[in-house]
Amino acid sequence: MHKDKIKFPFKCPVCGKSEFENADALLEEENEDKIYYIDPVTNEMKLSDVIDAHGVFCEYCGWTYDLKQLVDFDVVGDRNKKTVNEQKKDYYKKIAENPNYMFSKNIPYPKPHKCPVCEEYEFETECSYEICPICGWQDDGTEQFGTNDYSDVNSNTIVDAKKEFLKKRKINPDYIWSNFIKNNKD
Ligand SMILES: [Zn+2]
Ligand SMILES: [Zn+2]
Repeated sequence: MHKDKIKFPFKCPVCGKSEFENADALLEEENEDKIYYIDPVTNEMKLSDVIDAHGVFCEYCGWTYDLKQLVDFDVVGDRNKKTVNEQKKDYYKKIAENPNYMFSKNIPYPKPHKCPVCEEYEFETECSYEICPICGWQDDGTEQFGTNDYSDVNSNTIVDAKKEFLKKRKINPDYIWSNFIKNNKD
């Protein structure tokens, strides 16, 4: 089967749940030279150029867009570490263990955002679980639900954490949480 015979959009060859447009053409049009993609083996987010990977993957199973694999389910292709048939096996095993399994739910997306408490530090990815060095708030995505929502990770709400942070800043204008922690350890 020749590459030109592929009809767009096509369904994900691994899970059949998502649809793909002609990503090669779209990316060419947009002239994007750098794009994120997921390493299917390590599940890590990587920045690559268009030649290596298109950053286009199935959010249900994690299959990375690869036209070579679309025409032959037994080749590794250019962007996946496993063949389509091998990925199918992996995917259905995961679904059997957890019917709600979704590949994209485990991945922090690159979405820089200011710490909702101090508004000084910037987290690089959405819901990164990184701790803000300025105020000590852990980025657990609470702000998406509401500033009055209780965060279990932080044992606090954003509104109250903000009040506490501003109080500390009033007493000491140079207050930085990570320095405070360091000084109290020594
Ligand atoms: Zn899929
Ligand atoms: Zn902060």
